[in-house]
Amino acid sequence: MDKLSRGTALNGNVRVFCCNTTELVQDAATRHDLYPTAAAALGRCLSVACIMGSMLKDSKEKLEIVIDGNGPIGQVVADGYYDGTVRGYVDNPHVQFEKENHKLDVGKAVGTDGVLRVVKDLSMKRPFISEVPLQSGEIGDDFAYYFAESEQTNSAVSVGVLVDTDCSIKSAGALVIQMMPSAVETDIQIVEDIVSHLKPISQIIDEMKDPTEIVKAIFSDYEELETRELQFKCECSRARFAYVLAKLPVKDLQEMIDEDHGCEVACKFCGKKYKYSEETLQGYINAQKAAEETGGNEA
Ligand code: ZN
Repeated sequence: MDKLSRGTALNGNVRVFCCNTTELVQDAATRHDLYPTAAAALGRCLSVACIMGSMLKDSKEKLEIVIDGNGPIGQVVADGYYDGTVRGYVDNPHVQFEKENHKLDVGKAVGTDGVLRVVKDLSMKRPFISEVPLQSGEIGDDFAYYFAESEQTNSAVSVGVLVDTDCSIKSAGALVIQMMPSAVETDIQIVEDIVSHLKPISQIIDEMKDPTEIVKAIFSDYEELETRELQFKCECSRARFAYVLAKLPVKDLQEMIDEDHGCEVACKFCGKKYKYSEETLQGYINAQKAAEETGGNEA
């Protein structure tokens, strides 16, 4: 089971988040038939969504991350929840770019001519929306910039996905180190020194697996506050799509009956497909007509 560890270090002057997301990124890759570069892009974004989900206050809150760099992959979308679940998709799952050193070129797939947007639903009247221009499209740099600009928190963000030769996900995860307001110059220097000597996080996760152990190896005084299990999970349901379908214009419903003898809806987030029969659609038409007549009588 994928796991996240959250805690503090350097006498409470930094807070640290580390997650191993190998299984959930594999789950996303299978569901969406992601090519390796697309898997790396979505996997990085889902890993940060896990960490940002753990920053939420309670189960009523949730967040959505949209990375739109106008590159061939289109939008990269990830939702994060308080309970450690995430879901997400990319517009085009079949993109594949490699750099000269054969590393996956996420920046090229995502593009840099665009924005990173975070929509936080904090169960208040309006969602909190924050947008920053993309830095490199490599996602780690982009989130570091987001945390500094939008949340006024200097952060080191290391995020990575290692794809095996058979295209399966070998390891995935993220490490975020944030400076607390109490941090002094020495703490900043220590963190900069650590980060500059750190191996890629996907390699560390491949070797050590457990996020708690990873952070302990980095900070000897790591004080863990919490661990949570992580999972790819989508809240979609047959009833939820039915609710939307039932409200479509009669003309559109009739077209689905005449041309396709029913309809199939696929959830963008998880790829699950729901089928609705001709009879079901006819039922929606009848219900709309009946409601119209009732409404007419009342008026
Ligand atoms: Zn779904």
